[in-house]
Amino acid sequence: MSGTVFSIEEFSIYDGPGIRTTVFLKGCPMRCRWCHNPEGQSFSPEEVKTAGGAEMRISGQVWEAEDLVKKLLKNKPILSHGGGVTFSGGEPLSQPEFLLECLKKLKGHLHTAVQTAGNVPAEVFDEVIPWADLVLFDLKLMDPGKSLAWTGQDNAPILRNFDALTRRSLPFLVRTPLIPGVTDTEENLGAIAGLLDRHGVSGIELLPYNKMAGGKYASLGRIYDPGFDESAEPDPRTALFSAHGIEAKVL
Ligand code: SF4
Repeated sequence: MSGTVFSIEEFSIYDGPGIRTTVFLKGCPMRCRWCHNPEGQSFSPEEVKTAGGAEMRISGQVWEAEDLVKKLLKNKPILSHGGGVTFSGGEPLSQPEFLLECLKKLKGHLHTAVQTAGNVPAEVFDEVIPWADLVLFDLKLMDPGKSLAWTGQDNAPILRNFDALTRRSLPFLVRTPLIPGVTDTEENLGAIAGLLDRHGVSGIELLPYNKMAGGKYASLGRIYDPGFDESAEPDPRTALFSAHGIEAKVL
């Protein structure tokens, strides 16, 4: 079983607990206007200009699951002390067979996390996610129309999968990117706080907009056109969460 990976980052400390290796799988059905990993959107390998623009490299290498797992296990002595492996992207659940095989092979050997925006068919989510040890679930926009306008996708599958996740006895962490004037509004963060409260979720991580997000687009021959005021400071509105007894951590 093979899959397409566009980056493997070792010694990561932001993609779950401890020291981790993060594997970035290529391909995502969403088109978030603030995406800071545009090379994760296309499912196919693509040319990327290197810094300076003089040379090109190919982003997206095909890996056999067995070979990737062997590579990851080489760092077991480092990763097995509270860390592990995180599958990110793109949307890692968009290569479900490959991800599933990697998770099954790593089970019991290394702690695994899957970072997902949840926009995948229910049957994919329900089959793959139980094999992870931790899920990092992004909740972006609660209003279906705004979700469509800013991410290119309706949020119904996301909310369905989030609901399914909360019914499992599987550890998960909710994360929301704080995009000024888009996701950081009182309406949106208030709705997320209400949703978490209804599902008995006690914490959320809020990730302020990455002002370097546009940096990679030119190297892919694309124009970054976020459509919001990038210079504005996002408002985490943590009081909206504490009103529900939810701890909001701004990263
Ligand atoms: S879900 Fe993540 S990878 Fe996909 S477009 Fe949005 S920010 Fe980019």
